[in-house]
Amino acid sequence: MITFEHVDKVYQDGTEAVNDFSVHIKQGEIFTLIGPSGCGKTTTMKMINRLITPTKGTIKINDKDITSYDIHQLRWNIGYVLQQIALFPHMTVRENIEIVPQMKNWEKSRTTSRITELLDMVGLEPEKFINRMPSELSGGQQQRIGVVRALAADPDIILMDEPFSALDPISREQLQKDIQELQQKIHKTIVFVTHDMDEALTISDRICLMDEGKIIQVGTPQEIVLYPQTDLVKTFIGEKRSAWQMTVKDVLQQRLAKQETMNNNSEKVSIQADQFLIEAVKLLETEGVNQLVVLKDNRALGVIHERDILQFLRERITSKNGVIQ
Ligand code: ADP
Ligand code: MG
Repeated sequence: MITFEHVDKVYQDGTEAVNDFSVHIKQGEIFTLIGPSGCGKTTTMKMINRLITPTKGTIKINDKDITSYDIHQLRWNIGYVLQQIALFPHMTVRENIEIVPQMKNWEKSRTTSRITELLDMVGLEPEKFINRMPSELSGGQQQRIGVVRALAADPDIILMDEPFSALDPISREQLQKDIQELQQKIHKTIVFVTHDMDEALTISDRICLMDEGKIIQVGTPQEIVLYPQTDLVKTFIGEKRSAWQMTVKDVLQQRLAKQETMNNNSEKVSIQADQFLIEAVKLLETEGVNQLVVLKDNRALGVIHERDILQFLRERITSKNGVIQ
């Protein structure tokens, strides 16, 4: 969908904002850029809709160099949501939303039904909100209108630059949930910028961790938590551990507390007590068994069943990516 090939951005004053950035963003995924302030997230994002021109390298959308698109066509096909959503203060919610559909010469009725549908999707009753002025909305509601405006003309790509960071924690969490639900229905390609790892882990299909204009690691939330490749990634994850990062021993301890007795284990597949749960699940799959003998220093500590692991995870997973909250 969106491909960066060895992209550099050096600003006129010599600041190297982005350095040899290569990544392929897939159709329909939420791809999150995360990293410390000043690491080049916004610059990277703005190069996608040509608000900023790369110094070197190529960016392609659907295998076509973005410089070969008509700039208006390109921008109309890319929704953009900013941290401080700039709704036009003297225009109603409807007028704010219908700007791009109007530029695209949509029929009035098509625009109206699209606006109604989208307001419903983000939980704002259309009749109640459509004629309000921006000053009559809370911060969270304005941000929702910003999301609706970005989606109004049905773009394939949405860029969201720290869209929720100015909100209070409750509105923020709600909008994170909303955006995930919305994505289930609209399947857009979303490039999301945040400096908050919790947010990234909650909403992303893949995360790209940046530092000083370079990519440090790209992976699913599970991969990032489970296999952080550098100390910076570890620092960003903080103390959070994935439920998958718990060990076989953690499950066994819970199970032994139930005073299960061990039978003859000689025929059974075994696993070391300090292996990660994900390894246990892989072993259950590859061996086609539903229980494992847990070993420590060549001694059997006990047996865990597939259902014990599932129960253990179910009790702990509180977000879709298995991060213990
Ligand atoms: P982030 O969004 O990750 O905070 P930015 O992409 O905004 O980072 O900025 C990356 C680097 O480029 C920073 O060092 C920033 O100061 C610098 N920068 C951003 N915009 C400009 C500009 N117009 N001119 C010069 N330097 C800039
Ligand atoms: Mg930024």
